[in-house]
Amino acid sequence: MTDAPQKILYVEDNHDNQRLVQRVLGGRGYQVLIAEDGTSGVALAREHTPVLILVDLNVPGLDGYEATTRLRSLPHLTGVPIVALTADDSPGARERALVAGCDGFLSKPIEPRQLPGQVAEFIAGRRDQVTTPNEEIELLRAYSQKLVERLEQRILDLNVANAELQELDRLKGRFLATLSHELRTPLTSLVGYIELFERGMLGTLTPTQSEALGVMKRSSYILTQQLNSLLYFQELRERSLTPRLIQPFDVLTPLLVMLADQARDLGVILDAKGDKAAPLVIDPSGFEQLVRALIDNALKFTPKGGRVRVLFHDEPSRLIIRVEDNGPGIAPEHHQKIFLPFFRIESDATVSKTGAGLGLAIARHIAEVHGGQITVRSTFGQGSSFTVVLPRAG
Ligand code: MN
Repeated sequence: MTDAPQKILYVEDNHDNQRLVQRVLGGRGYQVLIAEDGTSGVALAREHTPVLILVDLNVPGLDGYEATTRLRSLPHLTGVPIVALTADDSPGARERALVAGCDGFLSKPIEPRQLPGQVAEFIAGRRDQVTTPNEEIELLRAYSQKLVERLEQRILDLNVANAELQELDRLKGRFLATLSHELRTPLTSLVGYIELFERGMLGTLTPTQSEALGVMKRSSYILTQQLNSLLYFQELRERSLTPRLIQPFDVLTPLLVMLADQARDLGVILDAKGDKAAPLVIDPSGFEQLVRALIDNALKFTPKGGRVRVLFHDEPSRLIIRVEDNGPGIAPEHHQKIFLPFFRIESDATVSKTGAGLGLAIARHIAEVHGGQITVRSTFGQGSSFTVVLPRAG
């Protein structure tokens, strides 16, 4: 039989108290786990099963009362005593702690000589209770009112923070739009002059100069592409899409032909299954953009010799489009982030890929505007599969 030390979880933000309890209970053979606030206390308790939990009632985040109530709802802690430890000696403090779910109440300052005995009593089964059932009901009512007040305050705070973020996002959007317009003007004249040089209209170039000009041309092309997608994204967010009844394959067939050419140039096999679907209510150019973004993305990250499959699944109430590739796959921690505008996975495999990181954000935006959604499934190292579900009614 192994003699693992018994664990005691201590939720406390004061470092002197942390050290004191660590020393006193550590000296008695317990392993003391420290959490600085209520939320991390709950997280630690989920991970370990302590024999006892000490909670300072005045901690940041979820306070000690709320953390206790949350801890009491975790099934694996049933029967584990939770003991409040607090400097609050105001009337009713003890009862409030008990009604929140504590089994005992110890006053600060911590008494090093008594603490080990008190802890042992609770581990052995001591449970303090509120005196009468009526009193308990009153206390519970007051406690739930306090909880709702705190909740209300948090929601108000969040609303304010959210409004501020939206304003910032709007400013950022405007800044990006201005910036891209400002950059495009000088870029246009650069591109124009490069072209004039290329056509020999500004004199004859030596081979070295021509070569340098080629590099400049490629760079300006990349810049133009980046600017276009930036502008496109801003415009897209502001543009109102106009859904109307369309035949999906009127849009898809020419798009797939064009993308098949692109795939061939990349040495990737693009194969599309399905050529019929019932009519759908959707903005036609948005629809084209959505499917193009998903296939572009798959083509971009699939290595030469790989395969991208597009599957259409037509249901009475919705059209499902799935784009599968056998590229490098996406690590689980990125599955949500890849849909954020400007997000790019930083890795050796992706450094060479151009793009502003907007394709999937655009695709998601269009799907959501039409009441649809996009999800990704991916096994790292084995490929990815993007599924877009578009409700038929729009
Ligand atoms: Mn405190």
